[in-house]
Amino acid sequence: MLQTPRGTHDVLGMDAQLFGRVEAVFRQQALSFGFREIRTPCFEFAHVFERSVGEGSEVAKQMYVFKDKGGRLLALRPEGTAACVRAYLQHSLHKSEPYVKWFYVGPMFRYEKPQKGRERQFHQLGAEVFGLHLPEIDVELMQLLVRTIRAVSGSQGKLLVNSVGCRQCRPPYEELLVRRVAPQKEELCADCQRRLKTAPLRVFDCKNRFCQALFSTLPVVLDHLCGECRAYHDRTLQLLTRYELPHEVHPRLVRGLDYYTHITFELVAEDGEAPALGGGGRYDDLVELLGGPAVPAAGFAAGVERIVLWLQASGAKQEEELDAVLLPLSQAQVEEAFALAYQLRATGLRVDVDPRPTGVGSRTKRAAGQAFFGLFLGEEEARAKEVTVKDFRRGQQRRLPISEVATFLSQTRE
Ligand code: AMP
Repeated sequence: MLQTPRGTHDVLGMDAQLFGRVEAVFRQQALSFGFREIRTPCFEFAHVFERSVGEGSEVAKQMYVFKDKGGRLLALRPEGTAACVRAYLQHSLHKSEPYVKWFYVGPMFRYEKPQKGRERQFHQLGAEVFGLHLPEIDVELMQLLVRTIRAVSGSQGKLLVNSVGCRQCRPPYEELLVRRVAPQKEELCADCQRRLKTAPLRVFDCKNRFCQALFSTLPVVLDHLCGECRAYHDRTLQLLTRYELPHEVHPRLVRGLDYYTHITFELVAEDGEAPALGGGGRYDDLVELLGGPAVPAAGFAAGVERIVLWLQASGAKQEEELDAVLLPLSQAQVEEAFALAYQLRATGLRVDVDPRPTGVGSRTKRAAGQAFFGLFLGEEEARAKEVTVKDFRRGQQRRLPISEVATFLSQTRE
């Protein structure tokens, strides 16, 4: 049997509905904050991502890199930020319109070990702001993420916040970290030994028990920030309190991508251990790293699959989607049923027809799971130019002239 490749899946049924809802709510929220949409290609030159996510980072290792027929080295995008930076520079926005607020929604690709909430093709919704170094911007990004989650779920999750320092204060801290770990270096996992050479801060991301136990006793970057980073961090926390965004300082929160500076954050479900719904932070050096001028920036990305899984776990129900399903009781009424559906749709109603020659019982059951009303067209109804309207929620039914059905359904919907 034909199957999807490992780590990918079809989104259908209730999942597709929730997917659509999450994306629509995010879009609406982002537009209300003044963000504009950007759609970048699903693949880019591999070096766009290689340079940004950090050599040796998990994400770099998980990238789908391939040569196309012209011998160009390309990569399926593993995340959205690097492509946005590339677009910002390619369109010279740093000259014409340096303050840019973008949002995006789309598939990302990482060659990971698939498990629940971890796919090889997954979808992210994200936002980026270029051109300002301002705690208000970081907090606005967090607000957008929290408000999206609140609007789809009614719950707002919890923000974990940290600062990972900047070009000035991070290197001396990393040296300290390496010095402190040196006596036990040989006992660390191979990944951490490598991390200590390339990106020491990332050791805090390690899931190995021994490493975690050791790192839990080490000094944290938060206690080694320079004056500017400290002030930026404190101001950000003040703003979070002012806007009543529930948050917790998490001094060992580092993100899988190397480009973060200053504030990093993650949004987790309030109730426990589930992996993060989304995360982000400030990346003031990335535009320069990718060949542009020094333009400060910040952003976040959240996983749509993760949000959908969480909504399902918290009991999100399928919504009744349609106003009505039309059920012709015999083949003689099929044409009439489609004609009525055509008229009803023209008035803005959402309707479908189930013209199958199967029993009315099973069709009614299916319709009741899809719509508020069932509209039955039999011979008797056809003679009287009427339909039988069944209200599935109240279990009531009545006959109505065909000419009154649209008005009746519209009024009942309101
Ligand atoms: P990252 O770009 O790694 O910071 O990820 C941001 C968010 O994307 C995470 O919090 C997850 O919600 C989601 N995410 C990342 N990787 C995956 C994956 N392999 N499968 C599903 N969701 C993912």
